[in-house]
Amino acid sequence: MDNKLYFDNAATTRPYPEAVQAGMPFLTNRWGNPSSSYSLGTDARYAIYDARCTIAKTLGAEPDQIFFTSGATESNNTVIQSVGGTKIITTPIEHHAILRPSERGFWTIYLPIDNCGRVKLKEAEKVIKRTSDAHLVSVMAANNEIGTVEPIKELAEIAHKHGKLFHTDATQYYGHQILNVNSVQADFISASAHKFGGIKGTGFLFVRKGTEWNSFLKGGHQENGHRAGTENVFGIIVMANAAKLSCEKISEESARLVQLRSYLITRVLNEIEGSFLTGDEIYRLPNNASFVFSGIRGEELIELLNVYNIAASSGSACETGSEAPSHVLKAIGLSDELANGSLRLTMGRDTTKDAIDYTIDKLKKSIDILRSK
Ligand code: PMP
Repeated sequence: MDNKLYFDNAATTRPYPEAVQAGMPFLTNRWGNPSSSYSLGTDARYAIYDARCTIAKTLGAEPDQIFFTSGATESNNTVIQSVGGTKIITTPIEHHAILRPSERGFWTIYLPIDNCGRVKLKEAEKVIKRTSDAHLVSVMAANNEIGTVEPIKELAEIAHKHGKLFHTDATQYYGHQILNVNSVQADFISASAHKFGGIKGTGFLFVRKGTEWNSFLKGGHQENGHRAGTENVFGIIVMANAAKLSCEKISEESARLVQLRSYLITRVLNEIEGSFLTGDEIYRLPNNASFVFSGIRGEELIELLNVYNIAASSGSACETGSEAPSHVLKAIGLSDELANGSLRLTMGRDTTKDAIDYTIDKLKKSIDILRSK
């Protein structure tokens, strides 16, 4: 696979080789259990502490506010199960790692969104205010399908004003946009390492000091008694290195991607009839260009693009294989027909303008083929 033709960075990102390299000793000669008291163990324990400090620094947080998990799914489930109470306020376009646990045993209240997927703040405040028996508001920082960035700073303030905790699923946002816990007063933040150049199966949960919460996984005393299970030392070290590398380059890389995104979107909308942008034009992740095309099926388009070695997705990767139109595209008001013709191109550090030109050329050809069937 040519990395330049990988347009599915929302599904996962190519791990930074230097981050993987930094983790390697923890698979070879530094393989101790961080809970052990002899040197081999304390060595791993100190390395985890350093990783915690690195992640905390990227968020403007303190090391003891960072808890390592197996990824955003676990971080999200932890928050919902531990502080959700009986009623949860969220949005209809959250990832299923929020929606599914919320639907189980909780009464879910959905905040109103516009047809770009952005929470309508004024109306949202009314809902938050009148739902007096809910403890938690959970709104994603940015949507994984359509790239819409949510007003999480304002939502955190509104949630607090009405006595509620605020959680944000920052899986698509952290490492790509600046996120500082002194500016965004979220009580909980979830992230997954493989979305910012780390490896799959590692992530973290930020918890603001003084916030009460319960562990989701029970057993050993790891993570200060909050998350049982022997730590994934390798994954944690890789994640911290990847976090540092991505966060150092956020401004430069997002400026580069915004240029590429605008080139890509303009060309697709101008050159392909029956194409529509999904998500917000302005409040949008720099790497996300998502569309719907009339008269085609997204799954078939993905297969054709794959023949040209282009990796892209239709809706979210977790939904692949599901026949139902994406819940996100339905929630922003698209018909089933249009929602089924979706294409998500998500760029990354390997994306070039040449790769975009090649992709648009093949995209046009593929759509012509599908429409003439
Ligand atoms: N939330 C969002 C917004 C996501 O995009 C994803 C991954 N697609 C997750 C949560 C779950 O992440 P993971 O599978 O790494 O646990």
